[in-house]
Amino acid sequence: MKKPRVLIVEDESSIAELIAVNLRHNGFEPIWAEDGAAAQRELDAFLPDLVLLDWMLPGQSGLQLARQWRKDPRTKAMPILMLTARGDEPDKVAGLDAGADDYITKPFSTQEMLARIRAVLRRRAPEAVTERVEIGELVLDTATHRVTWQGTLLKVGPTEFKLLGYLMQHAERVHSRAQLLDKVWGDHVYIEERTVDVHVKRLRESLGPAAPMVETVRGAGYRLTAQATV
Ligand code: CA
Repeated sequence: MKKPRVLIVEDESSIAELIAVNLRHNGFEPIWAEDGAAAQRELDAFLPDLVLLDWMLPGQSGLQLARQWRKDPRTKAMPILMLTARGDEPDKVAGLDAGADDYITKPFSTQEMLARIRAVLRRRAPEAVTERVEIGELVLDTATHRVTWQGTLLKVGPTEFKLLGYLMQHAERVHSRAQLLDKVWGDHVYIEERTVDVHVKRLRESLGPAAPMVETVRGAGYRLTAQATV
């Protein structure tokens, strides 16, 4: 599964670099923007899994940016972790009021930053940090990129792997084709909904005896269920 992307919005390059190096070493994909305008350009191109947003920035402050992003339907649900200066208690409250999920006080240790990032991701986007999902006897491991059924390794293509991962992490719920395109193929991807059907068909072929776990819900979409008779 893809590495969680973290957009670092920080004007001090030495701090941004240090954060980026630590994130990279810990399985994240960091992207750096030095101010609000650069951050907006990055957001227009792709949505990260989380934003590390410095409070003190040239131009628009982190607080203004957080407010603005929470108003935009596209970035409304995007996890935001604010970086604040030591002891600025009113700042923290204002940051949370503006829609930040949490804050980290500078200076902070790498371990603290990683713990807070993981906590926010678990809350907001469990699929970005979960490594192993088990539904009945079907097991998907994102660390080793393997799928097994009753202990037997299955051959699953990369898109089918992502699709299965999403369905397993949100099992028993029905997902429309549009939702699957958005969640599995990603934002800004213009492909036909029929593409989903093609990959579901391939996924079922890969699953073999476990194929009935991927159910078609007429008129609604697809669901992965542990209730299927396999
Ligand atoms: Ca700053």
